[in-house]
Amino acid sequence: MQHIIDRFISYVTIDTESDAGSETTPSTAKQWDLANKLVEELKAIGMHDVTIDDKAYIMATLPSNVIHEVPTIGFISHFDTTPDFTGANVKPQIVPNYDGKDIVLNAEQNIILSPNYFKDLLLYKGQTLITTDGTTLLGADDKAGITEIVTAMEFLIKNPEIKHGKIRVGFTPDEEIGRGAHHFDVEKFGAEWAYTMDGSQIGELEYENFNAAGAKIIFKGKSVHPGYAKGKMINSLLIANDFINELPADETPETTKGYEGFFHVHHLNGGIEETVLELIIRDHNKKKFEKRKELIEKITRKINKKFAKQFGADIATAEIKDQYYNMKEKVTPVKHIVDIAEKAMREIGIKPLIKPIRGGTDGSQLSYKGLPCPNIFAGGHNFHGKYEYVPVESMQKAVEVIVKIAELTALGDYVKTEETIKNKK
Ligand SMILES: [Zn+2]
Repeated sequence: MQHIIDRFISYVTIDTESDAGSETTPSTAKQWDLANKLVEELKAIGMHDVTIDDKAYIMATLPSNVIHEVPTIGFISHFDTTPDFTGANVKPQIVPNYDGKDIVLNAEQNIILSPNYFKDLLLYKGQTLITTDGTTLLGADDKAGITEIVTAMEFLIKNPEIKHGKIRVGFTPDEEIGRGAHHFDVEKFGAEWAYTMDGSQIGELEYENFNAAGAKIIFKGKSVHPGYAKGKMINSLLIANDFINELPADETPETTKGYEGFFHVHHLNGGIEETVLELIIRDHNKKKFEKRKELIEKITRKINKKFAKQFGADIATAEIKDQYYNMKEKVTPVKHIVDIAEKAMREIGIKPLIKPIRGGTDGSQLSYKGLPCPNIFAGGHNFHGKYEYVPVESMQKAVEVIVKIAELTALGDYVKTEETIKNKK
């Protein structure tokens, strides 16, 4: 157990916070610190073809140790941490044999990690937890994933009696700012499918995520002295308000769950002459997603019609941009890649938790770039803040899942669908 703890700590104590405001890749130079270390480590454990490109994308190969043909599979994680909370000077604390009670993260500042609030903690009674010291995030998202992949590769190298096909490993920068997949060279990676090790609770297995779009609606107005404004002033702030009121009030992030989609107004800024409204649209169902985008256009038309005479032109313009799509569309035709992961979990005694993601993953972008890529748990909880923690046992189980997936894939113990064969051509 100490080996995996040491490895994890050696990663999280390197600050790799990404920055959405930066235009370079990686978005912060400090991500190179961990990236370079990972390259050395992959070489040291005996991985082949270890490469890092000018944007810090790392790839490596574990060659096949069987003679029959096995599809090449991949495992992917990201080494940046979210800009939402500081990742500098992480001082991990180890809580062995967790007793199910409050954990004092920071006595001085009275920061407590409590099962009264974070009920998931009780799943891990008796296990070894790694927490923060209450002043930073932990970075288990997604350095737990990297730890697990490196440890699994090391295990396979040291235990050549376990048969597996060619395995590719990919570590990316800037996932937390939505760019992890942007410069990922799917062709160079050369895997038939892959898994991101970037989920949370042990057992999580995800291959459905939102279809996503962003909309920006600009409202024009006419400013006139308020004392003489009757019949003349057009206040764009109030028109934007009308627009918001046309949206279904019970379809917001705070009123929906599971497969329910939403409109999320997240930015409203303006004055009388011009107001800009920004919102995001989310839905797992492609048809409903399209309907939601149509509704934005419909409301815009309605408002334009209302003010056509008075304003003499379109008073509102809507710009809608698709952001990402549900990977289900790309994964369903090759569903065996999910089945293998599910089977791997069951064989090592983990109950698979298959549920839709209410967001996107790098895997969804990669799936649309031609690399079908479900998401598997990395084990951490309470990502992106000071209450983040990871049970070491969950990381160990994730290592076992990776090894088992490699084994099952080499057995060829799954049905190849027509689509897989077609996709391969
Ligand atoms: Zn992540």
